[in-house]
Amino acid sequence: MALTQEEIRKIITPLLLSGAKMLDRHCPRCGSPMFELNGRVFCPVCEYREKQKKTETGDVEKILKEKLNELASSLPEEIDELEKHLRVMEKIIELLERYKKLEGVK
Ligand SMILES: [Zn+2]
Repeated sequence: MALTQEEIRKIITPLLLSGAKMLDRHCPRCGSPMFELNGRVFCPVCEYREKQKKTETGDVEKILKEKLNELASSLPEEIDELEKHLRVMEKIIELLERYKKLEGVK
């Protein structure tokens, strides 16, 4: 994926201001120029995108956990309803497990 104007403004500009050196090498993944800061060579765009992805995953996890708490604190008395309720909770837990596995791959 190519760089957007917003990414250039949000990632590259602050890096240059912080004293990072732009190298004349380009990232094989996104085509952005590579940077060097304190002896470390990296692609700021890929790092930024990774961080964004993690935040998104974290948010989904948070939302699911909130829903789960909500369901757990409002269990119905009626047995059929209770079963439905528990089935939804089970699904949420399954999803959470899957997310944890996704996180582990990274
Ligand atoms: Zn890159």
